Amino acid sequence: MPVKNRIADLQPEIAAWRRDFHAHPELRFDLPRTTARVAALLRDFGVDEVTEGVGQSGIVAVIKGRSTASGRVVGFRADMDALPITEATGLDYASETAGRMHACGHDGHTAILLGAARYLAETRNFDGTVVLVFQPAEEGGGGARAMVKDGLMKRWNIQEIYGLHNMPTLPVGAFAIKPGPLLAASDFFEITVRGKGGHGAMPHMATDTTLGAAAIVMALQQIVARQVPALGAAVLSVTGIQTDTMAHNVIPDSARLTGTARFLDKEVQAMVVRRMEEIIAATASAYGCSADFNYMHGVNVTENAEANTEHAIAAARAVAGEALVRTDIEPLMGGEDFSEMLQVRPGAFIFLGNGDSAGLHHPEYDFNDEAIPAGCSWFATLAEQRMPLDA
Ligand SMILES: [Zn+2]
Ligand SMILES: [Zn+2]
Repeated sequence: MPVKNRIADLQPEIAAWRRDFHAHPELRFDLPRTTARVAALLRDFGVDEVTEGVGQSGIVAVIKGRSTASGRVVGFRADMDALPITEATGLDYASETAGRMHACGHDGHTAILLGAARYLAETRNFDGTVVLVFQPAEEGGGGARAMVKDGLMKRWNIQEIYGLHNMPTLPVGAFAIKPGPLLAASDFFEITVRGKGGHGAMPHMATDTTLGAAAIVMALQQIVARQVPALGAAVLSVTGIQTDTMAHNVIPDSARLTGTARFLDKEVQAMVVRRMEEIIAATASAYGCSADFNYMHGVNVTENAEANTEHAIAAARAVAGEALVRTDIEPLMGGEDFSEMLQVRPGAFIFLGNGDSAGLHHPEYDFNDEAIPAGCSWFATLAEQRMPLDA
């Protein structure tokens, strides 16, 4: 049972939806055109139910199998939002809006789930219910959490949930996955170092906040290098530094640092945050300054449940064949807010090959339409395998 023939036949149509989304990217929760198109297509396919406005602008659709006697309900999720990037692909379906671009392939994910919906609504070769989840605001904004808070899992009785993300460099038609942590918890921080500004020529009359901030940047790097165990994955990046004047001859009253921290393990995360607090306070004090530390938790670790990972692998093998399904990949330190759905229901997230494309979030990136049949077939096969008619 490789790529489904019916889905292969639909590929040009699904690719056309994808290119339409690509030309009209929308950001965060503000997705009026995208959601209108998704809801209209779902209604055209004859799905059993379409609910709009879940978690502000998410869409939930229901497709019942030929039988629902099993009582099983499987959720499938796609993300719909784009990024604040100006596209540089030069494609004839490139973004029509400067400063907005589908640079993470969510146009492809949405089109793939629509393609699977069309096939499943047509064939209904399963015993149970498929719930399709189209979420807003994956790229910051907490769209997954908003849908969960709006009762996604309980209102539609979702028992397990699956999603996919395209992956540049992985061959088209191939899949990659692992059980356990797949993507990192992704947090953000801001530090404001405060002191007494003054003349750049008379530092002895001031407390040098710029020097204190620089010392904090250096001191924070000992945490991952010397305090996190070698196999306890963590990233701590101070990515921005700014003073309140940026003048050549002024020692500023305050200097600001921004950055991100990534983890695969909650204990490592707690230890790093505690050490950051201690090191920031002590280092600021050593330079005669004080510091405000604002640490913001972003998304959780994307944690694939063991059993659901096996189900995801079985469907991927059925579609792509054994050789094109990697099950032993390293976790990535990027974050993904599907993690918020996996916090409340077991499930799995899989990577789908995007071939030799520019990287995710790059202005020359484009989703590969040749990956559509494998992606749609994976969802469709998963529905049929998890809820077989003749069980
Ligand atoms: Zn992204
Ligand atoms: Zn993405």
